[in-house]
Amino acid sequence: MTDAYTRFVRSAPGGALARQLGLPRPARLRRREGRPEPVLGPVVVLGDSAGADAIAHLLLEEGTDVRRRFEELRSVGSVILVMDELAAPSELGPLVLPLAGAMRSLAPGARVVTISRPAGAEEPARDAARGGVEGFLRSLAHEMRGGATANGVLVEDGVALDAPGVLGALRFFLSARSAFVTGQFLTVSSAAGGETENRSLPLAGRTALVTGAARGIGAAIARTLAADGARVVVLDVPGAGTELSRLANELRAVPIQLDVISDGAGERLVAFLRERGLTLDAVVLNAGITRDKLLANMTPERWDPVLAVNISSQIALTEALLEAGDVLGEAPRVVSLASTSGIAGNRGQTNYAASKAGVMAFVDALAARLEAVGGTANAVAPGFIETEMTAKIPAVTREIARRMNSLQQGGLPVDVAEAIAFLCSAEAGGIRGETLRVCGQNLVGR
Ligand code: NAD
Repeated sequence: MTDAYTRFVRSAPGGALARQLGLPRPARLRRREGRPEPVLGPVVVLGDSAGADAIAHLLLEEGTDVRRRFEELRSVGSVILVMDELAAPSELGPLVLPLAGAMRSLAPGARVVTISRPAGAEEPARDAARGGVEGFLRSLAHEMRGGATANGVLVEDGVALDAPGVLGALRFFLSARSAFVTGQFLTVSSAAGGETENRSLPLAGRTALVTGAARGIGAAIARTLAADGARVVVLDVPGAGTELSRLANELRAVPIQLDVISDGAGERLVAFLRERGLTLDAVVLNAGITRDKLLANMTPERWDPVLAVNISSQIALTEALLEAGDVLGEAPRVVSLASTSGIAGNRGQTNYAASKAGVMAFVDALAARLEAVGGTANAVAPGFIETEMTAKIPAVTREIARRMNSLQQGGLPVDVAEAIAFLCSAEAGGIRGETLRVCGQNLVGR
């Protein structure tokens, strides 16, 4: 699904012309090819804390080619910067500068991951150093080339570096599953969660619902969850029934035709699950629509359905599932679809951005509620993803939106799906109330 410009600049004459004119030449992103996937090595673990030793040791035990210095390496696959014991900004330099000399040795599709603690508001020097990691990492991500990415894991004080969530987030960022995620942080706020027993099928034995699954990102989510071993319930409007049953046949999934904003949708979903004896371990709230207009031209006909589908339906569905008491498994995972528009705002999208900013606040509040039962709620905020939704954007605006990120290309639905599958996995149990951007470090907004 590569766009026409990218195809052109990847051809010999197109590439030469783009080089001459200084035009963007988007790299081929490294995406997952098999299950389980190996970490791109050699992996250099920098830092001299006990946490750094623990991370290096764990990776070594898994058979990864781990080094503690760059030595004379000609090609470096992954770099992990462990900075969990920073006490002052002056300590940043000695930790990050060894990477300077190795930047030109990073392999195509390389990964750099920082592991540090979030800044609080307690110790000025320590928190300045912790905050500094975020600025460093976000800038580094802008400097990566060849489809390489840089991301960070923030580990709350009191959570050990070998907690499942830390290793899970680290593995996700090191892997090809995070191809379109760069310049981002994931916070691990508790030691909850567990090791994934079967890396080839991390969701084996779990059942997941995906709303808006007939096409686009929803279909990719259903495919990825199924490939990761989950049994999938795919939901979409009756009008998309044909595509939905095709997908259900392909994945041996259970289809349900339901408009999420119809009266009693939540109760009908609960009744459907009970009839079939299904309990959901994961709920992916993906169904979403746009009705773009400047506020000057905004009408209730454009405002109301966007808020209803994108956020109110999510609140009502989860409420019905939680209230039913018997259709959610232990420690349920909820993952909702936000958008970078909800973070940065976007011209012509006051309605959409309101709904998506609402999603982020919603998962935060829901996470607090689900914590009591060991569950989590998180959101994924895609940037520009190549789907029918974005194909509707006028050509010039679309081309600009597609290039305005550090990877200079649109993401694919599977990139969003991989992030969601990770958040549904056992390893992500300590991650809650987070919004993970899958946007190639979209240059718009914060
Ligand atoms: P899409 O329009 O291709 O697919 C959306 C799916 O949701 C369709 O199958 C549609 O039938 C279904 N749906 C819509 N209203 C429904 C309803 N009332 N009940 C049940 N199903 C309904 O969109 P997409 O690009 O795949 O987007 C999926 C999600 O990702 C949306 O929430 C969207 O806001 C979000 N998102 C997409 C992008 C992007 O670049 N494509 C960017 C940010 C966020």
